[in-house]
Amino acid sequence: MKLNDIQLAQIDAQVKRLIASDSYYGQVLKDAGITEIKSQEDYEKIPFSSKDDLRNAYPLGIQAVPDEEVVRIHSSSGTTGKPVIIPYTKKDVDDWALMFARCYEMAGVTNKDRIQITPGYGLWTAGIGFQAGCERLGAMAVPMGPGNTEKQLQMMMDLKTTVLTATSSYALLLAEEINKRGIRDKVYLKKGIFGSERWSDKMRDYIERELGIELYDIYGLTEIYGPGIGINCNKQHGMHYWDDYIYIEIIDPKTGKAVPDGEEGEIVITTLVKEGAPLLRFRTHDISRIIPGDCPCGSKFPRLDIIKGRSDDMFKVHGVNMFPSQVEEILGLVDGVSSEYKIDIAHDEEKNRDIIMITVEAEGRVDFEKTASVIQGMFKSRHSITPKITVVSVGTLPRTEKKAKRVIDHRDV
Ligand code: ZN
Repeated sequence: MKLNDIQLAQIDAQVKRLIASDSYYGQVLKDAGITEIKSQEDYEKIPFSSKDDLRNAYPLGIQAVPDEEVVRIHSSSGTTGKPVIIPYTKKDVDDWALMFARCYEMAGVTNKDRIQITPGYGLWTAGIGFQAGCERLGAMAVPMGPGNTEKQLQMMMDLKTTVLTATSSYALLLAEEINKRGIRDKVYLKKGIFGSERWSDKMRDYIERELGIELYDIYGLTEIYGPGIGINCNKQHGMHYWDDYIYIEIIDPKTGKAVPDGEEGEIVITTLVKEGAPLLRFRTHDISRIIPGDCPCGSKFPRLDIIKGRSDDMFKVHGVNMFPSQVEEILGLVDGVSSEYKIDIAHDEEKNRDIIMITVEAEGRVDFEKTASVIQGMFKSRHSITPKITVVSVGTLPRTEKKAKRVIDHRDV
């Protein structure tokens, strides 16, 4: 998708402002010899930015406005090294709330709804984003934050919450708990808005069925406002994103070249009007594609397909590139298997070959040994790999309130 004239003018203004500021990215642009952006070609000369840049600029090197204009910071921890700090101006905070309110509207949420917010508040962007969007829309926020399942369920029943916002793993945990306690008829949920990790169709079906709700995937990352820059509509044909605030290109992660619309690659985002910490061509490491054509819902906002995985989650076994989503796809086809799984990858030094071990959960009614061999056969025929499959009882693998780490590569150590 090429830049339109408005986007081009916005990026040109961002670039000039960054160069004039004494910020980290101003220096990057100066070093790259960039002075203005008048065409798609000019734009494609802008160097990519990444989380590494943000770490290098820690704590506030990317701040592109005077101190008195910054009203808040957020931070993403990441798994290694220094955290990343993102400063926001009042306009940034307002813009984010507006985008988030649009997400709720796209999901059919209105000011009559009661939204239970279970993502965490504080340094990270999740809880406060869901909250600000909810208030902007005029709905009632029930700001729970994460954990304390007992209280979550109590509030959900007593306040007759209609919308649940959560990570998909926590939504699964709540759905299982509601099922176990047999309190489904005391729960008034109509919609679930979940984000921040890739989830399988099986998990989606379970939550949808057990809670009897419509599900929406919200997209976003701390570096680019936070969650709320896109969401799927009720036609379930990908996620609309707000192209008056962000420009998205899809690139081949190896070559860095843009791929045609419809082809899969890494999502790269440029903020168009962000003040506190504008980012140009930020590499998200999320893998998806632009869905070409118009959406049956009638919205003119462009669409991203569901996030297929992280380029850093991609794992290579026997020379084959794989994503957790491909594992999920197979598990979704096997009777009696839950949506939870764990993958361990190791290297057999003696035989000089990779070993992949997959632990899955199955219900007591199915034959574990037979199930393991069915799954193994599917991996063999679809991906030409032969993993070792271990089947355990449902509930054995850990459920978390945070993003679940499902692939453990022992070859790294
Ligand atoms: Zn749509």
